[in-house]
Amino acid sequence: MDKKTVLVVDDSSTICAIINNELTEAGYEVITAKNGIEALSFIEWMDRLPDILTLDIDMPVMGGFEVCERLLEGRDAPNERRRKAARIPVIFVSANDTIENRRKGFQLEVIDFISKPFKRGDISRTVDKVLNPGKEFLGMRALVVDDSVGIRRMIHRLLRRNGIDVSEAEDGLQALQLVEQQHEKYDIVILDYHMPRMCGDELCRLLRQRDDMKQVPQIFVSSFDGRDSALDFFKAGASDYLRKPFIEEELQAKIQIHLRVKKYVNELEILNKKLEKSSVCDGLTGLYNRRYFRNELDNCFAKATRYNLELSCLFIDLDYFKRVNDTYGHAFGDLVLIQFAEILTKKIRPADIAARYGGEEFVVLLSVTGSSGAVGLAEEIRSLTSQHLFSDGVTRIHVDISIGVSSLQKDKPGNTDELVSFADKALYMAKKNGRNRVCQYGTWS
Ligand code: GH3
Ligand code: MG
Ligand code: MG
Repeated sequence: MDKKTVLVVDDSSTICAIINNELTEAGYEVITAKNGIEALSFIEWMDRLPDILTLDIDMPVMGGFEVCERLLEGRDAPNERRRKAARIPVIFVSANDTIENRRKGFQLEVIDFISKPFKRGDISRTVDKVLNPGKEFLGMRALVVDDSVGIRRMIHRLLRRNGIDVSEAEDGLQALQLVEQQHEKYDIVILDYHMPRMCGDELCRLLRQRDDMKQVPQIFVSSFDGRDSALDFFKAGASDYLRKPFIEEELQAKIQIHLRVKKYVNELEILNKKLEKSSVCDGLTGLYNRRYFRNELDNCFAKATRYNLELSCLFIDLDYFKRVNDTYGHAFGDLVLIQFAEILTKKIRPADIAARYGGEEFVVLLSVTGSSGAVGLAEEIRSLTSQHLFSDGVTRIHVDISIGVSSLQKDKPGNTDELVSFADKALYMAKKNGRNRVCQYGTWS
């Protein structure tokens, strides 16, 4: 890849040489100019625009502020080169690093300040940071809410430099609409306090009430105008605040602190979901485990008896499964169990609960389903399974299943244990009567 070019502008040839040395060592192509006029003429005539500018503030002929102003004038120019030149990132390197100069620089969209005398490594580190945005927050999303386009643009740039995706809204109402419409989750909200239509505090309060926004940090950026206090922000649910006008670095530092915590929260959430799933699911088939099934059975049974709803249970066992293991090996047996679980999952409804009860035994709880519906479904599952060719690409075999069915209203089991044991008894009858069949509890006596 081509080297990135830095245009170093300083009236001191010693400073130019020091910066030139450091950046050349760091792998950059360096061009030096001794004042603003020379810098602008380089920008106008160079083959390729420089990727970044380091700029002294006080220089004879033309100083740093004027260079920034001239460049920014081209922001909406018809000439594409001038528009691009207006977007070249600028770093001030100056002994005159006062708050007033920083504020002025920030209004002129200067990215960073380095005070003279600087230490070895300061310049290349800052240039690196700007030209290669951090990966730490890559993929995270921010929502910027401010009625001032200038502030939005400045915060947007800062966030993009940190690898963060940005959505913008000009007031609280528009922000709320974005949150409601967008399926992406936000990781941070940076919001103004005084805005037309809906103020920051109201937006903050409404966002805090949403499950998907509860843990999202909200940073207020506001010019305290005497009416509001920091307490108002915190009462509304703010995580932090910053007073306007502010130094970009300060906002950046606050954003980074909150995003680091948010990233950790995101990771914990993913881990939690995994743990939740592994605690209720069977590791081999992905179906629910026995413990989860027992829990759900209690809930469904209580609900069904209370509201007089139908409820059925299927108890399924693979026929002669020991032979499958003995003939084709345990690994192939596992594959049969996995493929059978897939057949089962496809046949049942989302509200039904299929679980692996033990080795090659499965249970299905069918809510709002009476005995005839349950027997019909059991028959479909049996028939599909017996037609299925269980295969690992080499071995191809058929496996049959037997199913026992019990139903709440028909069989009148007094408790959950009975509902399951009735289905188990029916399964026993299905095995006894020749396997590969469905048997309904109570129909054989
Ligand atoms: P029946 O038709 O009477 O049910 O006969 P069966 O051979 O299926 O029943 P049996 O209870 O004698 O054997 C069940 C077999 O299931 C024995 C055991 O090795 C096997 N098994 C249990 N769990 C697993 C498992 O996770 N993976 C594999 N591959 N086999 C398992
Ligand atoms: Mg079996
Ligand atoms: Mg068995």
